[in-house]
Amino acid sequence: MRGDNIAMGFLATTLMKPASFTYHRPRELAEALRLLDDYADDAKVIAGGQSLVPMMNMRLARPAHLVDINEIGGLSYIRQTEDKLQVGALSRQADLEQSALVKAFCPIIADAIQHVGHLAIRQRGTIGGSIAHADPSAEMPLMAALFNANLTIISTGGTRTVPANEFFITIYTTDLLPGEILTNIEFPRMSPEDGWSYQEFSRRSGDFAIVSAATILRLDDTGKVNHIQMALGGAESIPVNVSASLTGFLGTIPDEKWANAIVRTVTAGLELNDDLHASAEDRLEWLQLLVKRSLQESLQRATKREGEG
Ligand code: FAD
Repeated sequence: MRGDNIAMGFLATTLMKPASFTYHRPRELAEALRLLDDYADDAKVIAGGQSLVPMMNMRLARPAHLVDINEIGGLSYIRQTEDKLQVGALSRQADLEQSALVKAFCPIIADAIQHVGHLAIRQRGTIGGSIAHADPSAEMPLMAALFNANLTIISTGGTRTVPANEFFITIYTTDLLPGEILTNIEFPRMSPEDGWSYQEFSRRSGDFAIVSAATILRLDDTGKVNHIQMALGGAESIPVNVSASLTGFLGTIPDEKWANAIVRTVTAGLELNDDLHASAEDRLEWLQLLVKRSLQESLQRATKREGEG
């Protein structure tokens, strides 16, 4: 939740109390789903409350029924399969930050999450809440987009899985329907040879990023790039996975020219946000810098690991 105009700031300082609502604290997933079904558009899930409560206080959200999922067992875990990292939607951001599994299998996530607000926020805020909230500048939606994570969504009608790159529709808007709960986020495991880098620009430490860039790349044993994936945050109304535009950069030895060409490719044609936080021109300039830095740092890490091996 970020204020985008003066009227919002006025509301924030004058109201600061939510409209009245009925609070439900189910202990079973089935009960939560039934409540969400019964109250449909009038109900909202609450997880960490770090985005929803401020929005309710500012009367930007006025759910008549809040369905708190914190007492439901089995929604908070971090576990591995052979080639995936699975995270329960109710896992706190601080749990991911400290998790040895996350550090080992998706270190870029452990790094990016340290930029989410402050520790107090990360201790309450959940990964599922952050992804469902879908702020285009937020770190976890960006990670979901970077990995094209598989999102498991449950309702009384059954279970469906949606790739992250089909989940985000526009700012604060996702493919989630009333009555649905996001339960699981599944990331492909990174390779131990991967170099990676998360870069963001924010005005102060702990503030939301204005723009961000995340890269994962791998070199073959001749030093040529044989894998690259990248996503940009805060650029457009959703986090953008630009990996498909990078296939032409595979099979070459990376150098300055290569990096500059990638910067041009991934920033060309973006429909850049232009708002109170930053103009489109400034965003473009910062993105160019961050993409370049993320490539350089990824290459350093990939080269170091290659050397170590
Ligand atoms: P909630 O606030 O409980 O819910 C958010 C939305 O998601 C609601 O619409 C809710 O209905 C829905 N929802 C929640 N869980 C589910 C679910 N499992 N299934 C379906 N829908 C669900 N975030 C950043 O990424 N970067 C930052 O720098 C940052 N800075 C912050 C600074 C401050 C001062 C504050 C207060 C927050 C900041 N945040 C930041 C937001 C924080 O990360 C939130 O915790 C997160 O966005 C939402 O997670 P939550 O669990 O609190 O969700």
